[in-house]
Amino acid sequence: MIMPIYVYGFPVLKKVAEPISNDYPELGDLIENMYQTMYNAKGVGLAAPQVGLSKRIFVVDTIQVMKEEDKHKGIKKVFINPQILEETGNPWSYEEGCLSIPNIHGDVERPAVVTLTYVDENFNEFTETYEGMNARVIQHEYDHIQGKLFIEKLKPLKKKLIQGKLNKMAAGNVTADYKIKVFKP
Ligand SMILES: [Zn+2]
Repeated sequence: MIMPIYVYGFPVLKKVAEPISNDYPELGDLIENMYQTMYNAKGVGLAAPQVGLSKRIFVVDTIQVMKEEDKHKGIKKVFINPQILEETGNPWSYEEGCLSIPNIHGDVERPAVVTLTYVDENFNEFTETYEGMNARVIQHEYDHIQGKLFIEKLKPLKKKLIQGKLNKMAAGNVTADYKIKVFKP
């Protein structure tokens, strides 16, 4: 089921999300719906707050954006109750966007390597290290469950330039070519 993506303005996007318990009802359905919603919107990651659910879960598929010879380096994975343990490596800049903030892009600097613990859909625990595009998408999605958005990490001038668009968005004036839920103040 494709769910509507909540856009900028909704308080759920600014909240620290709650852990998922191992008896969470219909977790498999939620994960499936999150993947469908992400693919429908041509995204590489989607976090639960983006579908209005303040829970610590996100899905990632970077295989889509890897070059043909690098496909094996991509990941398709669900991260539940993740905890970032360490971010290392040289910070690098990349132009990010967000399904919850349609039509806005900007350069964000993030450390190159991230180590985190998480559980999968069967509540098996993992500790893993990612780099490059995998790390970046994980960091972006992790920010979502911490109630943070990539626009907060833009340079001050860029922030100024997009403020008008953001204000309009939060006032309900926004469109996208996928299903969205527009905030009505
Ligand atoms: Zn996002």
